[in-house]
Amino acid sequence: PALLQPELLRSLFPVLQQQVKGQPLAYLDNAATTQTPLPVQQAMLDFEQHDRANIHRGVHTLSQRATDAFEAARSTVKAFIGAGQEHELAFTSGTTEALNTVAFGLWGAGPGKAWLRPGDEIIVSGLEHHANLVPWQHAARMTGAKLRILMPDAQGRLHLADLQALITPHTRVLALTAGANATGERPPFEAMLTLAKQAGALTVLDAAQAVGHAMPDLRDLDADFMAFSGHKMYGPMGTGALAGKRKALELLYPLRLGGDMVEWVEYDRAGYAAVPTRLEGGTPNVTGAVGLAAAARFIDQIGRSRIDAHLHALRAQAVAGLQALDGITILAPQAPQAALVSFVVQDVHPHDIGTLLDERGIAVRTGHHCAEPLHNHFGLGPTTRASFALYNTAAEVSRLIDGIAHALKVLR
Ligand code: PMP
Repeated sequence: PALLQPELLRSLFPVLQQQVKGQPLAYLDNAATTQTPLPVQQAMLDFEQHDRANIHRGVHTLSQRATDAFEAARSTVKAFIGAGQEHELAFTSGTTEALNTVAFGLWGAGPGKAWLRPGDEIIVSGLEHHANLVPWQHAARMTGAKLRILMPDAQGRLHLADLQALITPHTRVLALTAGANATGERPPFEAMLTLAKQAGALTVLDAAQAVGHAMPDLRDLDADFMAFSGHKMYGPMGTGALAGKRKALELLYPLRLGGDMVEWVEYDRAGYAAVPTRLEGGTPNVTGAVGLAAAARFIDQIGRSRIDAHLHALRAQAVAGLQALDGITILAPQAPQAALVSFVVQDVHPHDIGTLLDERGIAVRTGHHCAEPLHNHFGLGPTTRASFALYNTAAEVSRLIDGIAHALKVLR
């Protein structure tokens, strides 16, 4: 495919057409949140201006249109992730809510009825975002299950043989990232999901950092559940989804009980609706779902492989630039498929680097990136992270490297 032309695509992103501290904004915090293009903004505006109403309950025209828009968005997003006949998708407010829906759902039915029981084992990797760790800590506490951590090697890589060694007859869940937000590492998640599935576990894939990129179709993965966020794939904030096998979704006790998720209600009991509606209690973010679907279409129009080729080139440029500077340690330097680069600078606090970069209009993230145990494990402390999106240019990466070189001179 033809190379991506970020300079042209930038015109679709109004937020990028601004100066910060007197310099053109170089937005390099895309692993946290990407920006939305005009087609996504327009889809939401159209819905707000013509079709906005509550869904499912109304016989009136706008309610029906809103319901149709919501269900059309669901179909679009399902197609985008390669869902098969056996899959369903519930909209959520993001990855965090999707993962909580799974973790809570596996014990929420109460003792004796829950998937997780005393003595069961939950495996999560040592690379996980807090969103795929803390809900499992709580699930383990509530059920008497044990949390097992699949630790990365010294280079931050996960190994299938280590997973094999952790799996026991008690393994009931594997929760794994498809791409680590703190380091950019991409684990061999396909094979890991298969291994856990063969052991009889439920498998959960955190696709927050992967969904906007080339990745296998859901129907080709041994994932029972897959979680992702809209705001990391050029879609609106506060949107996301929990996709999964219908049978697996049916195992989940709903996290949110109330209107919309019930078939019938008496004063002392209620019958719950079928999935995915069962998992969508309360009025959903319909505008957001419409925007998320528009983002999926936008990505597919450009092409995920084309986007990735561009991102990998930017990352390679950034890694080479950083390696030419003194005293910089790059996390997961060997991860060529990453769209981000995370690094520590000897004797310099990342907060100071981030502040000096901001003075030049360059936005990067500093801190633990919601993966504190991993940073502690490597004895690293906070890092600086630059992460790329389709609108970033080679010129911006050059500005980043110049800015860091300048920061080192000032701070050391
Ligand atoms: N998992 C990963 C790998 C992430 O990168 C993030 C966002 N940083 C999350 C989960 C949480 O996503 P959200 O904040 O959108 O719920």
